[in-house]
Amino acid sequence: MTYCLFCKMVNGDIQPDVVFESDDVLAFHDIDPKAPVHILIIPKRHISTLNDLDEAELGGQL
Ligand SMILES: [Zn+2]
Repeated sequence: MTYCLFCKMVNGDIQPDVVFESDDVLAFHDIDPKAPVHILIIPKRHISTLNDLDEAELGGQL
């Protein structure tokens, strides 16, 4: 199983500056911001590529 940087954030091994969290997503300030406000929103489920999205995620049921 792939365990990437974002998975480490979701699992708490790395603790980003979280601004929002739900069952499905985590939003946090980028560690190297390119704008005055630079927030990343990531899915909590590991998704390697767009091809790995399931039908609900593609169809707008997020
Ligand atoms: Zn991951």
